[in-house]
Amino acid sequence: MKNNHVTTLEIDLDAIDFNLNFFKSKLKKNTKVLIVVKAFGYGSSSIEIAKYLEKKVNYFAVAYSNEGIALREAGIKTPILVLHPQVANLKTLIEFNLEPNIYSERILTEFIKVSKKENKINYPIHLKINTGLNRLGFSENNIDNILTHFKNTNTIKVESIFSHIAASEDLNEKDFTLQQIATFNTISESFIQKLEYSPIKHMLNTSGIINYSNEAQFDMVRLGIGLYGFANQQDITSTLKNVLQLKSIISQIHTIKKGETVGYNRAFKAKKIIKTATIPIGHADGISRQLSNEKGYVYINNQKAAIVGNVCMDMIMVDVTNIKCEEGDEVLIFKNQEHINQLAKNSNTISYELLTAISQRVKRVLK
Ligand SMILES: *Cc1c(COP(=O)(O)O)cnc(C)c1O
Repeated sequence: MKNNHVTTLEIDLDAIDFNLNFFKSKLKKNTKVLIVVKAFGYGSSSIEIAKYLEKKVNYFAVAYSNEGIALREAGIKTPILVLHPQVANLKTLIEFNLEPNIYSERILTEFIKVSKKENKINYPIHLKINTGLNRLGFSENNIDNILTHFKNTNTIKVESIFSHIAASEDLNEKDFTLQQIATFNTISESFIQKLEYSPIKHMLNTSGIINYSNEAQFDMVRLGIGLYGFANQQDITSTLKNVLQLKSIISQIHTIKKGETVGYNRAFKAKKIIKTATIPIGHADGISRQLSNEKGYVYINNQKAAIVGNVCMDMIMVDVTNIKCEEGDEVLIFKNQEHINQLAKNSNTISYELLTAISQRVKRVLK
């Protein structure tokens, strides 16, 4: 069954290793590293990435409990922070030894209730401080309230206290970012003083490591997109190694006569005779319909072939008029970071969205 899955996403673990070491080289020797593997490891494979990095990093993070359960079921023993747990998942979360981000008083009181019922002592939790992203987390005026909860229970223990920067990649927002860092310092220090023990502090994501490792490195960093080869800055992205290649093959080649149309809604009409190749990947696999009509392109035998007409659910047609190719030839849907960034730009989004959109129908393979 060699051609059972012709459309594959290849993951290069050596490139993962290179990128991890690149970011580690920006950090102090004893700074801990948390690797973010939410959304299937940014579209790659959270399980393969976690298995590969288990011995090399200190923590993993996922967004939802289910993602953490998948890692535990695959045998991952490393601590796992769940960034966005819900009240309904708290019991399962404990069952699988996952560590919740506690971001609101509601989730805090519920978690204390559940951990008490499960007879837990000093169960590790992570306290999120909102310093300006205004997404999740406690603000300064919540702190005294939270502290009374901690003073009244020994079922939980603050393993870490953290915050998230709103625009770590944008140096035009440096003043705001420094303000966020200052706010985090003030809140976490006053909290730790009253807590009478010292949790891990962390604030930086990929772009934060690049831009603010002097100001806000603290005890740990949270590396996401950078591990997968992207850095929100062109020069750093070029230094990183490409991790992901999305590959397929040519299913069929057509000759389109002048005046004929290609695909749904007859969106493309040939002005001259052209040759098209049909490829088994579509919007159900994560190729945005916004890439229709030449906004998107693939590589065939090292040459660019633009998408002709509308992206279909399971297929695209590309222009191969000037490319020497045959049915069965390999097609690079995502060749490298530069290609992915260009496709992201052409469809008004960012690399994060393109990568995480690659559907589970596409088989993941290790290179
Ligand atoms: C996703 C996420 C990260 C990782 O961000 P990158 O920009 O991909 O490095 C870090 N921290 C939190 C809270 C996140 O949600």
